[in-house]
Amino acid sequence: MNLQFSLSMDSLQLCMLQEGEEIYYCIPLDMDIQGNYQSDGYTVITSRRILTLEKGNISHDIPLAECDYVISEPQISCGWFIAVRDGEEELIGRFSAKHYVRYAYMSRGVRLLKQGSAIKVVSQEYEKSCPACGRALPRTRICPRCAGKKEGMLPFFKEICRDNWKHLAVIMVLMLLSSFATMAGPAVQRVLVDDVLVSRERNFGMVVCCLGLMLLLGAGGVILNVSKSYWCAKLGSKISSDQRIKLFRKIQLLSLAYIGDRSPGELMNRVSRDTGRIRNFMNDTFSNMFSITLLFPCVGIYMFILDWKLAFVAILFVPAVVWMSYIMRNTVRLRFRMQAKKSDAVNNKLHDVISGMEVVKSYGQEQREADYFGKMTDDLARIQRSNEVLLAVVYPCLTFVLGMGTYLVVYFGGRNTLSGHMTTGELVQFLNYATLLYGYAGWISNLPKKLLDMMTSVERIGDVMSHEPAIADSDTSREVDIAGKITFANVFFGYKVYQPVLKDINLTIRPGEMIGLVGASGAGKSTIINLIMHLYEADDGILWIDDNDIRNIRLKKFHSQIGVVLQENFLFAGTILNNIRFAKPDASYEDVIQAAKMANAHDFICRTPDGYETYVGEHGYNLSGGERQRIAIARAILSNPKLLILDEATASLDTESEYLIQQALHRLTAGRTTIAIAHRLSTLKGADRLVVLDKHRIAEVGTHDELIERKGIYYRLVMAQLMMNDMRRTK
Ligand code: ADP
Repeated sequence: MNLQFSLSMDSLQLCMLQEGEEIYYCIPLDMDIQGNYQSDGYTVITSRRILTLEKGNISHDIPLAECDYVISEPQISCGWFIAVRDGEEELIGRFSAKHYVRYAYMSRGVRLLKQGSAIKVVSQEYEKSCPACGRALPRTRICPRCAGKKEGMLPFFKEICRDNWKHLAVIMVLMLLSSFATMAGPAVQRVLVDDVLVSRERNFGMVVCCLGLMLLLGAGGVILNVSKSYWCAKLGSKISSDQRIKLFRKIQLLSLAYIGDRSPGELMNRVSRDTGRIRNFMNDTFSNMFSITLLFPCVGIYMFILDWKLAFVAILFVPAVVWMSYIMRNTVRLRFRMQAKKSDAVNNKLHDVISGMEVVKSYGQEQREADYFGKMTDDLARIQRSNEVLLAVVYPCLTFVLGMGTYLVVYFGGRNTLSGHMTTGELVQFLNYATLLYGYAGWISNLPKKLLDMMTSVERIGDVMSHEPAIADSDTSREVDIAGKITFANVFFGYKVYQPVLKDINLTIRPGEMIGLVGASGAGKSTIINLIMHLYEADDGILWIDDNDIRNIRLKKFHSQIGVVLQENFLFAGTILNNIRFAKPDASYEDVIQAAKMANAHDFICRTPDGYETYVGEHGYNLSGGERQRIAIARAILSNPKLLILDEATASLDTESEYLIQQALHRLTAGRTTIAIAHRLSTLKGADRLVVLDKHRIAEVGTHDELIERKGIYYRLVMAQLMMNDMRRTK
C-alpha cells in the first residue's frame, strides 16, 4: 500500500517542519470539511504532528502527544478523518471513497506511531521502474509481469533434491547408463556395416561380436529405461504425496481470513490437481529430461566431429525451431493459466451447487444452475479446445521443419559416400544420430509446455505454501493452562482495515462467569468470539487471557481448552462415537457415554440403528437439528473446556429439543467461563452479565434486570422481541 504522495514545495513549506521532524504519511485530502471536492488538500502525519492542509492553509495542526488516536470512518461515498483528543472526537477532514483504504492504513499507522513502533513508509521518490524486471511501472506502481511472481521453481527443486537425493542419484546413474547405450548403438552399427557387410572379408567372429553387442545394448537400453521409468514413477508419487500432505497441513494453519478469501474448490484443486500434475511431470517428462538434454549436445558435437559440413546441414533447422518454440512459450503459458483459472471456476461452481443442493431444489433453480454450469463448462471446453489446437498445430509444424533436415542429410551424405569422402557405415551412423537429434529437438521443443504446466502448478502450490499464517505460534509463545479470565483492553478490529467492526472494546470477563453478547445483527458479536478464539488478531489493543497476551499463548493448547457449540454444528463423516470423540480422540467408551448422558443425547443415540457406531453423513443429515446439537454438547462436555462458546446454540429448535438442550447446556456451562450469543434474548436471562454491542462499540453492560431498568438499547431490543412474539401469537 503506497501512502505517499509528493507534496508540492509550497505545501511542504506550509508544514513548517521543525528540526528533526520527519514526514511519515502524506495522503490527498480531496474534500473540504463541508464535503466539497478540492484539489490541493493533504493530510500529513509527521513524527510530531497531524496536519491537514486545505487550499494553501493549515486547517488543523494537532500535536501527536495530545491526540489519543485517529479514526477513518467510512460514510456513504466519502470518509471522515477524525482525531480523538481526551475522549472527544473531532472531525478534521473528509476524503472521497477511493482513499478509504489509505486512510484506514494511516489511522492504524498513527496508533502504532504513538506506541513508538511505526514503520516509516515515505520515500521521497516513487519507484519509476520495476526493481525486479526493470520495466517502466504503470500508474498503479504494480508491475503486471512481476506482481505475484514467486521465486519460481528453484526453491521447489532445492527441496526435492534435499528430500529425495537417494532416489535422484539412482535415476541419474540409470540415465547416464541408458544415454551411453543410446550413443553406442549407432557406433556399433557403423562397424557392422563397414567392417562386416561392405568389407569383402567375411569375419564370422566380428559378425557375432557386433550382433551380440547390438543385442546387449538394445536389451540393456530397454532394461535401463524401464528401471528409470519405475524409479521416476516412484519419485513422482512420493513428491506429489509429500506436497499434498504439506499443503493440507499448511491450509489448516492458514488464517480463516486467507481461507475465506478463497473458495473451497480452488484450494481443493491445489491439493489434488496441482500435486497430480507434478506426479505426471515426474513420470512422463522428468524421466527423459536429463538424458535428452545431455544427449542432445553430445550427439550434436559428435556429428560435427564425424563430418562438420554435413552436421551443419543437419542442424540448420534446429535454431529456427528453438527460436519459434521460445516465442510460443509466453503465449502458451498465458493460455494455460487462463485454462487453469476457468477450470477452478467450474470446480467451485460444482462444489457450491452440490453443497447447496437443498437450497437449489427448494427454490426450483435446477435448470438455471444447470444452464449456468453448462455455460461455464462450454467456456472451459472452448479454451481447452483452442489450446489443444494451438499445440496440435505448432508442435507438429516444428517437427516437420526439423524433418526437412533428414532429406538434406541423405542427399549430401549420399553424395559424400559416392565420392568416397565418407564410408557407408559412417553415413548410417550419421543418419542414426541425425534421427536421434531431430527426435530430441522435437521433444525439447515440447519441453517448455510441459515445464510451464508444471511451473503453473508449482507456482499455485507455492502461493499457498509461501503464505505466512497471520496467526501462528512464535518463539515467545507458551503453553498455558487457562483459568478463564478474559480482558479486552482498547481492542480495535476490522476484517478489512477500512471497515472497523469493533472499536475501542474494553471488557473484563471473570473466570467462571457467563456473559451474554447482545446486539443487532452485524453488531460484531461473532467477531468478539472470533477474537477470543484467536481465529483473528486484534488490529490494535490487547486481548488478555488471564494475565497472558493472547498472542503469546500456544494455539494448540489454547484451543484444546475451548469448547464450542454453534447453531449449525458440523458433524464429520463417521460414527457418532468418533464425532463425540473429535476433541479428545483418546477418550474411553465409558467417558463418551457419560458425556452423551450429560448432554441428553444417550437415549436418542441408543435408538439409532447401530447406537454409538451409527454412521452420520458428511453433514450428519440423518440426524435432526436438536440431535446434532446434543452431539455437539456431548463433544464439548467430553473435552472439558475452561472456556465455552455458545453461538446461537438454541436457535431454530423445537420446544422439546430446546428443553433438553437447555438442560444439557446448564450442566455444560457450570463452573466454566461462557460466552453466549442468542438471537432470542429470553435464553440469556440466566447470564451473569449481558454485554450490549451497538455501532461497533460496547454500549451497555449489566445483568438482565439492571439493563431493563436502564431502559436503554437492551430494553428496546427486549421490547421489540416481545412485540414480535405477541404479533406472531395473535396471527
Ligand atoms: P453479529 O455476530 O453481531 O451478527 P458479526 O460479528 O458476524 O456480527 O459481523 C460483524 C460485521 O463484520 C458484519 O458487518 C459482517 O458483515 C462483517 N463480517 C463478518 N465476518 C466477516 C468476514 N469473514 N469478512 C468480512 N467481513 C465480515
